[in-house]
Amino acid sequence: MQQISLTGPTLKTNLHTHTTFSDGVNSLSDVIKAYESMDYDVLAITDHNRWMDHRGASTGKLLVLNSNEPSLSHREHLLATGVMAPSPVDAGDRSCERTQEVIDWINQQGGFSTLNHPTWSGMSVDRLLELQRYHSIEICNAGSTGHGSEMSLTHWDELLRRGRRVWGLATDDSHSDWDRGLGWVELYCERDETAVTKTLKAGRFYATTGPKFEHIICDGARLQVRCEPVMGIAVVSAAGPVKVVHGGNNTVQELEWDLSKCDDSYLRIEIHGHDGRKAWSNPIFRD
Ligand SMILES: [Zn+2]
Repeated sequence: MQQISLTGPTLKTNLHTHTTFSDGVNSLSDVIKAYESMDYDVLAITDHNRWMDHRGASTGKLLVLNSNEPSLSHREHLLATGVMAPSPVDAGDRSCERTQEVIDWINQQGGFSTLNHPTWSGMSVDRLLELQRYHSIEICNAGSTGHGSEMSLTHWDELLRRGRRVWGLATDDSHSDWDRGLGWVELYCERDETAVTKTLKAGRFYATTGPKFEHIICDGARLQVRCEPVMGIAVVSAAGPVKVVHGGNNTVQELEWDLSKCDDSYLRIEIHGHDGRKAWSNPIFRD
């Protein structure tokens, strides 16, 4: 398997946030204050079809990223993280025949491209397979909680099973105040705009609704995971869970696995807390 070493401090990051510049309830300055008070390090402002230069809004505590949510027909929405210009659909035709054009435009701009909330969008796996070259999908769009559509894990596993190399995000998609601090990513990098985009593209992060990984290390022959105390740690492949440590009513913090007999095309790790909150590593692929 690929060698990875995810260890050390992380940046608490929400990549999907609305303000009164589109359909959010709160002003940019109120949103920034709220995320600062929850100890976030990085926040992307993603108003629908509206790019604005928000770099000046960064504070000593919070790096504010330029982003946008190009929103096309049939609820096909994307995140254009780190782009420095309006998207080609901000004005004009927004039919979903243009979704691929927008993905390619984000990538050409040096941005990090995401297909948002596949379950809320009613996107089939076939549609996700038809689209190419996006970096990630939202596996957890916490703002869809209560709308019966926050999780898209089945879409993710099906893409991975078909050989797609796609990272998984958890985001707030916050429009109000109840939907803040529910889903985010922890990035293994310094708090710098260029480093953040590079780290996202490299998949050096994990998604969470609460629990934290301490480290995820794979030297090719052995997998080592350490996390805060949780109910269970599961390694999931195309075949389902292939290695699990479970604490029952107690907790576990570590999983170690000899990969010499593993022939899976990818492995990803989930941790589950007793309170129902979860975190998901990105997949580790066979070289
Ligand atoms: Zn949104």
